[in-house]
Amino acid sequence: MKGVTILGSTGSIGVNTLDVVSRHQDDFRVVALTAHTDDIRMAEQVARWNPEYAVMADPGAAQRLSNRLRRTAPSVEVLAGRDGLDRVASLPQVEIVMAAIVGAAGLMPTLAAARAGKRVLLANKESLVMSGKLLIEAVRSGGAQLLPIDSEHNAIFQCMPPDFSSGLDHLGVRKILLTASGGPFLNRTAQDLAEVTPDEACAHPRWVMGRKISVDSATMMNKGLEVIEACWLFDTEPDRVQVVIHPQSVVHSMVEYVDGSILAQLGNPDMRTPIAHALGWPRRMESGVDRLDVVALAELCFERPSFDQFPCLRLGYEAARQGGTAATILNAANEVAVEAFLGERLRFTDIPRVLEDTLSRRSAREADTLDTVMEDDAAARQLAMTCVSQLSPAPS
Ligand code: NAD
Ligand code: MG
Repeated sequence: MKGVTILGSTGSIGVNTLDVVSRHQDDFRVVALTAHTDDIRMAEQVARWNPEYAVMADPGAAQRLSNRLRRTAPSVEVLAGRDGLDRVASLPQVEIVMAAIVGAAGLMPTLAAARAGKRVLLANKESLVMSGKLLIEAVRSGGAQLLPIDSEHNAIFQCMPPDFSSGLDHLGVRKILLTASGGPFLNRTAQDLAEVTPDEACAHPRWVMGRKISVDSATMMNKGLEVIEACWLFDTEPDRVQVVIHPQSVVHSMVEYVDGSILAQLGNPDMRTPIAHALGWPRRMESGVDRLDVVALAELCFERPSFDQFPCLRLGYEAARQGGTAATILNAANEVAVEAFLGERLRFTDIPRVLEDTLSRRSAREADTLDTVMEDDAAARQLAMTCVSQLSPAPS
């Protein structure tokens, strides 16, 4: 039985991971679960999974969870804060760590899992975007395995030759075709978009996801972050990654080879497929996902995205080309802008303005130490908050 830690177990990816694990209880044992503030949901998960550890990043929530579990599950050790997250990411009895915390908060425990040589199932793309160099180095020096959970990157992984980490050129890989649904606002005009609400932005046409990534999908910042993510995962330059809009979200991405072949991975849009793929890899296992009936597919469309319509996608490419902490700054500003939009303190169309403004005020540098990354992350957050407060608030 393989021991599993799920970082972010109460979120969308966390719940889908538990669903896949529930189908393979002879193969996997849940050792630790973690969440931010939702102690009620965590207490339910503890009752169902009986892990050794339950971690709440928020100390108040950890106290509430301890009180709840005192009588019902006294053997479960409740931990709090960052130290607790790092600890359960590196326990000796854990072989697999699902990194499914949202945002920059996921970086430290993901690094801890990499340093401890775990199989790291990476959903938390922000950790790779903000600190790709250090995370990849930690994977190498810790002897860890990094398996992508983001559906596109998982698809690319499946379409790559097995030894892709030795370099793409000599394996004849010409290009990565990164598909994008285009989000809920693909066919809306700029005027329409100024007034959209958080709920409209989170109503994704194909995927059910947490609110932050849903807003990122609507701005297409998500795809910009994914270009950066692909560069780190597959050790390639941004100009070899082509974003293709594919509204049906059936082809999850493709790899083009020099002989004219394009390999694609297809499936219903359900995160349990990449989760099961990475949990079982290299063995394939049942995920609970409905079979894709290719005969019932009416059409598959592909089109080029417009940088004018989706400025955040352009910013993602620019940060990837610039390198260093440019992506750290972009990611931090985006987290601040998305939170402000979700809190109705910023218009949807002002999200890219906050990002451009922050990037123009903070110069990127080499991202070779964690201190540098954290400093630029903090400075960018401060600049972005100032910018948010200066822009006109969204109408109530
Ligand atoms: P979510 O908001 O549904 O869940 C986030 C989880 O992280 C929750 O368990 C929450 O308690 C925890 N969390 C939040 N803030 C935290 C903090 N400060 N400290 C510790 N824990 C914290 O998000 P999600 O949709 O499950 O996404 C998780 C990650 O996976 C994100 O990085 C996202 O980009 C990525 N991802 C998600 C999907 C998807 O379909 N949901 C697809 C691809 C990639
Ligand atoms: Mg994705």
